Amino acid sequence: MPKDIDWGSLGFGYVATDKRFVANFKDGKWDEGTLTEDATVTMSECAGVLQYAQTCFEGLKAYRTEDGKVVCFRPDLNASRMKDSCEKLKMPVFPEDKFVDAVVEVVKANLDWVPPYGSGATLYLRPYEFGINPVIGVKPADDYQFRIFCTPVGPYFKGGAKPIVIRVSDLDRAAPHGTGNIKAGLNYAMSLYNIVDAHEAGYSENMYLDPQTRTKVEETGGANFIFITKDGTLVTPKSDSILPSITRRSLCIVAEKYLGMKVEHREVLLSELDSFAECGLCGTAAVISPVGKIVDHGREICFPSGMDEMGPWTKKLYDTLTGIQMGRIEAPEGWIKVIAE
Ligand SMILES: *Cc1c(COP(=O)(O)O)cnc(C)c1O
Repeated sequence: MPKDIDWGSLGFGYVATDKRFVANFKDGKWDEGTLTEDATVTMSECAGVLQYAQTCFEGLKAYRTEDGKVVCFRPDLNASRMKDSCEKLKMPVFPEDKFVDAVVEVVKANLDWVPPYGSGATLYLRPYEFGINPVIGVKPADDYQFRIFCTPVGPYFKGGAKPIVIRVSDLDRAAPHGTGNIKAGLNYAMSLYNIVDAHEAGYSENMYLDPQTRTKVEETGGANFIFITKDGTLVTPKSDSILPSITRRSLCIVAEKYLGMKVEHREVLLSELDSFAECGLCGTAAVISPVGKIVDHGREICFPSGMDEMGPWTKKLYDTLTGIQMGRIEAPEGWIKVIAE
């Protein structure tokens, strides 16, 4: 039974739940891992993660479906993306099958924290790994900890999904051939200055361009872009320094297989933005946030979908993907991991 919480007014903040998963990598191998009630981490003052930011993370959600099941959405893709992140950061990979098992264990151990169907709230899971032994010379740590905690999060949109205004950023998120395509904490550390600055200037997000030519659209600090053309084609920007969003990849399949839309994954030029009919940001947290306006210094790009509600194609994509996640619409094979019936 879900706990007696006002799920609808819950925000997106950390709330400690009953149990979390911890595994340690020591002497060249992973231990079995275990659930613990201890929500704290104790480590050396010189731990690798504290000195050289050797850490990466993932994010996914558990939902209560219409027919009362508790499920996760495509956790195998989080496992494989974390493998890519770990390899690039010279961290040992927590085995992908054990990653998925640990996700299931954590949700099962915190079932009462999975919000009720229809509340709009979800249980957010945060897998992460970091170097834990003392490191002072610049090199990878020897010992690592892998953890998954979960925390209930409120509905992303309270009172409807209002389109947001974003700006074209003068600062860069990820260098070409850098770490933009992995989920490294360091990518977020260097985006904080710019997001605070954007908020102070009245914008919800920064649109990052490719740093090399500053002519192509990449993504925001934590979400990929989707664009819809006037004839209903879904266009998503392609670049080696974009983080491969699981939401975006799923939306492309939903567009093609469920909605019969054409889908293009290609370079998107800053100069062509005003030819699109709709724009949105996609990621696990919101699924899709509609973008109403992009401000590029003196130039304003106002999408025909306006500032009051999601555009019609965006809404169809949003309703179909959330319908799949909540069990209202049949999912493609392998997308839904059932945790409790
Ligand atoms: C996590 C993340 C996303 C969204 O990915 P999802 O798998 O859809 O949650 C997009 N961009 C960046 C930079 C991210 O870190």
